Amino acid sequence: MSVFADLVGQDEAVETLRRAAAAAARIVAGAADGGNGAMTHAWIFTGPPGSGRSVAARALAAALQCERDGVGCGECHGCHTVLGATHADVRFVVPEGLSIGVNEMRALVLRAGSAPSGGKWQAVVIEDADRLTEAAGNALLKAIEEPPPRTVFLLCTPSTHPDDISVTIRSRCRVVPLRQPPAEAVAEVLVRRDGIAPDLAAWAAAAAQGHVGRAKRLANDPEARGRREAVLAVPRRLSSVGACFDAASALIEAAEAEAATAFSDNDSTERAALEQALGAGGTGRGAAGAMRGAAGQLKELEKKQKSRSTRSQRDALDRALVDLAAFYRDVLVTGLKAPVAVVHRDTAEQAAAAAGKWTPESTLRRLEAVLACREAIEQNVKPKIAVEAMMLNLWRG
Ligand SMILES: [Zn+2]
Repeated sequence: MSVFADLVGQDEAVETLRRAAAAAARIVAGAADGGNGAMTHAWIFTGPPGSGRSVAARALAAALQCERDGVGCGECHGCHTVLGATHADVRFVVPEGLSIGVNEMRALVLRAGSAPSGGKWQAVVIEDADRLTEAAGNALLKAIEEPPPRTVFLLCTPSTHPDDISVTIRSRCRVVPLRQPPAEAVAEVLVRRDGIAPDLAAWAAAAAQGHVGRAKRLANDPEARGRREAVLAVPRRLSSVGACFDAASALIEAAEAEAATAFSDNDSTERAALEQALGAGGTGRGAAGAMRGAAGQLKELEKKQKSRSTRSQRDALDRALVDLAAFYRDVLVTGLKAPVAVVHRDTAEQAAAAAGKWTPESTLRRLEAVLACREAIEQNVKPKIAVEAMMLNLWRG
């Protein structure tokens, strides 16, 4: 199946990428620019979470290495190894912490400058390029300004807003905007690719609001469904100040629990591997010195793990807030009798009841309280404080 098959509901972007990969193959074959300027050396993929930014970047990287003239057949050795992240000329930067540091970026830029071992292209895929530190951004900019002839940079960011990517980097890149895929397209891919029953797929696609990965998780994982239900129960639990604080604690703890299940195994495996590599427990000559160096490296690893866990908690909390915002949006569209579908079909009744009780203005204030909370956390306000303030505003309306 084509490497572009998983780009759900993105026909225009796929067309652009197909043309680029075909031109790139002509360049490899000796043409000056592949004929029509369809190929360029730096790309930015933008779109809301789950729209497939990294899927698109990976698909283009695969098509560039495809042995069938850049078709992106999905079947040849080139396509396979890129999709499996084992191709020697394609590197993926996936930030696990809150930011991508300058040292990581410098090392990457250096390696990306060497000639492609497979004779085609060197590709660097940077997921979450909005998390580049300023220094890392500058290191990357230098490489993008004077790119080696066969090196391609593929950046993924939520938008081209200066908060997400520097204006100078953006000005050197071609932008491929991805849209939030329609629920029907997401449901279709869950059925076709993952073998999920059509009813469940349709429900999960709507509940996930166009986020393909989240839709799949909701369809497959009962715990993810349980966490979502708990979040959607919040509005009807807010009956007093005390209940607001309880709901805030519960929401934060759920996000922490979700982050912990994702990483705790990983953390201890990493630590054990590092200890073993450092020869912990050695008693020979030089062991004391080695242990002092080892302590530094263990500390570094702990720092990295902590940053990764903080990021993961924030992502989990943000997902919960997006679900909650959609509930108030449902109340609003139900109250205004707007001709659009509700996001959460399973709480449509509660949304209708709330619409009968609240004025549109007070519903809108509640929706804004959720959005303000997301923004505050993004600006580094302590999550507990931001969520408590939000709960009080949701209660008062
Ligand atoms: Zn191929």
